[in-house]
Amino acid sequence: MDKQGFTTSIVHGDRNAGVEHGGLRQPIHTSVQYGFERVEDLIGVFQGTKKGGYNYARQGTPTTAALERKLTMLEEGVGSICFSTGMAAITAVFLTLLRTGDHLVASRYVFGNTNSLFNTLRTLGLEVTTVDAGKTEHVAEAITPKTRMVFVETIANPGTQVPDLAGIGELCRARGLAYVVDNTITSPALFKPKHVGASLVVNSLTKTIAGHGAALGGAVTDTGLFDWSQYPNIADDYRRAGPKEQGLLQIRKKGLRDMGAALSSEQAHQIALGAETLALRVAKCSDNALALARFLEGHEAIGRVFYPGLESHPQHGIAKSLFKSGSWLLSFELRKPEMMIHVINALRLPVKATGLGDTRTLIIPVAPTIFFEAGAQTRKAMGISDGMIRLSAGIEETDDLIADFEQALRHA
Ligand SMILES: *Cc1c(COP(=O)(O)O)cnc(C)c1O
Repeated sequence: MDKQGFTTSIVHGDRNAGVEHGGLRQPIHTSVQYGFERVEDLIGVFQGTKKGGYNYARQGTPTTAALERKLTMLEEGVGSICFSTGMAAITAVFLTLLRTGDHLVASRYVFGNTNSLFNTLRTLGLEVTTVDAGKTEHVAEAITPKTRMVFVETIANPGTQVPDLAGIGELCRARGLAYVVDNTITSPALFKPKHVGASLVVNSLTKTIAGHGAALGGAVTDTGLFDWSQYPNIADDYRRAGPKEQGLLQIRKKGLRDMGAALSSEQAHQIALGAETLALRVAKCSDNALALARFLEGHEAIGRVFYPGLESHPQHGIAKSLFKSGSWLLSFELRKPEMMIHVINALRLPVKATGLGDTRTLIIPVAPTIFFEAGAQTRKAMGISDGMIRLSAGIEETDDLIADFEQALRHA
């Protein structure tokens, strides 16, 4: 079929793949085991010679496979693997593609649990250097002969820093490095990391792709741009696959099958339902985030506002040229940080909760919660002040959100 638009392809994805009885959705396959009439077929599935077969749900089911097909379509990739969470997907990428002694260069501004994971990698004898990836030179200067991979987030949570995504992609291509981009905050509705040369794209499906906060999930998508036959850490068993397939094959066998963080069919179904409205929700959330960012920037009680859609944002130019809109994540500080708890409590609409990319607006003070364990020193290095407040804009009516902030800030 001709290439279709984003939402057209996702809402017709299952039907066009031929669901039995003319179903519009892939059913929820609850089987753990898959049986065969002929044992030769069972053997073929184990040996990878029978394509599209299933054997045991830890390696995937028809329902998770349908979600993988959709994600591959949305990210314009060659294949995807779903995991039980976004962190499971990220962990699988690092642990299956890096070896003791290898070097990873990563953005200094990343999701707190990913930063915490870097410390675990260090205990395993991997070297991790974090840099301000806003300038490609910083990444280039950190590269050593042992560097295998570069990892960045499209918009950093919570500080909203945007790396020089295209410049780093060019650098990785020239140096033969795997380029891994966490696309969670933008999602494929706003940005496709393949367009800046990413090798692998990671998405936390828990956030805006599901959008309802009723399921956890994560995924890795291979864009097909990286030649895994030149990558040193692929096991001989997986060298038999094509040069574009070896990376994902190793991640599926070592990262999903052996490590076991499989997505259930029930969760995959919930995520697939949410994903149908991804583009519509992200557009509305982005409109709300921009309206709130403008309102907050103009308010006398507010200090700094961090939102890539604002002209005042240091990487506004990059964000404007690469992303369809500024996304739903925004952070801000009060002029009087000591009023932070009072102001958050005075808000009626935003839910005082962690989480991102929900249909409801969520709000959280960053330092005492999601970055509490990180400690003051790490927070400082990551540009997180004690008074930073993170907001994930939902799909509520814009006027309701602004009115609520107006009343809550009256006492700040
Ligand atoms: C939430 C998040 C993750 C982790 O995803 P989970 O599904 O919660 O494990 C990874 N990266 C970013 C940028 C996130 O916001």
